[in-house]
Amino acid sequence: MKCARFYAPGDLRIEDVPIPEIGAEEILIKVAGCGVCHSDLHIIQGELPLPRTPIILGHEVGGYVEKVGKNVEGVTEGEKVLVYGGWGCGTCNVCIRGEEQLCNVLGWLGIGVDGGYAEYLKIPSRRYLVPIKKLDPATSSPLADAGLTAYRAVRKACEGLPLSETVVIIGIGGLGQFGVQFAKLRGYRVVAVDVSKRKLEIAKKLGADLALNPVEGELLNIISEFTDGKGAGAVIDFVGTNETLRDATSFLGKCGRLVLVGIGGGQASIFWNPALPPEVSYTTVYWGSLTELREVIALAEEGKLSLIVERISFDGLLQAFERMKKGDLEGRAVLCPDL
Ligand code: NAD
Ligand code: ZN
Ligand code: ZN
Repeated sequence: MKCARFYAPGDLRIEDVPIPEIGAEEILIKVAGCGVCHSDLHIIQGELPLPRTPIILGHEVGGYVEKVGKNVEGVTEGEKVLVYGGWGCGTCNVCIRGEEQLCNVLGWLGIGVDGGYAEYLKIPSRRYLVPIKKLDPATSSPLADAGLTAYRAVRKACEGLPLSETVVIIGIGGLGQFGVQFAKLRGYRVVAVDVSKRKLEIAKKLGADLALNPVEGELLNIISEFTDGKGAGAVIDFVGTNETLRDATSFLGKCGRLVLVGIGGGQASIFWNPALPPEVSYTTVYWGSLTELREVIALAEEGKLSLIVERISFDGLLQAFERMKKGDLEGRAVLCPDL
């Protein structure tokens, strides 16, 4: 089968490998689509070192059940599914409470285990497959990571947050576009921030109340005015550089929450100072849980989410990463092995 395998920074190869053999408990998926995530670009650029190479990248997978191991029940050949990729050990405390993605990042699909930039993908357990009905398995594949991670980020940002508060979302790419929609679905006022004019237009279409470009204006003043001097109730940073984190922390109001999703390598500091808003909190987000993926898929099946997707072939994959680097992708590129 054809696949895209990562060997070392700057060395992603499109090559042929054998179709994986499956054991009695395993399932083989025919990949219909695999979303192209900026995390893969971080890996290719050497910003996110991987423990095991070569490895097939790709962790946002939708497809059809091709073959079912002899001990697997409740899964039928030809079934349409999205794949949950935050694979854990299944026995530690976070796994038992249903947050397997927090077990071991290096066990994640497409990070520590061969992923979905391939014609076929081996899945170790049926519990990682979420059936879909109306959705197309290729164009809905970004729900499995871009949608899921943004959903968890918004949930963490907005737990107990009064609806009169404002949520600021920085970086309106694959993930941030979902972030804007989830925050609006919950009923908050949303400010979108991106360096690209096109992304700001998209943010407005997706419901953002205000869309701001950091190079064009004094964001802090505008956000302060928009919130009647209170500052933001929550800021979600989908970029994560020192610059965006500096902005993000400055936007927070009293008890404001910063949720860091972007792997831009930046840092934010926290300290006690009577001149600053009290009791702010900072957290990171690591992908999302299976339960959260089911919730995201349910919202999409009900037609409540817009997905901006561009289907690409293996021939267009390296170019898609180049375009992502320049910020030229509108939404999510999805690798479709059949194209
Ligand atoms: P993307 O390339 O699709 O989008 C990034 C967006 O940020 C673009 O719209 C770009 O114009 C904008 N941007 C760049 N610099 C900016 C700046 N200084 N200020 C404002 N906007 C800026 O990327 P994506 O796939 O949405 O991923 C976003 C980040 O989230 C990446 O770092 C990715 O690795 C990370 N990620 C984290 C997790 C997790 O579990 N924590 C999961 C998936 C992705
Ligand atoms: Zn990702
Ligand atoms: Zn575990």
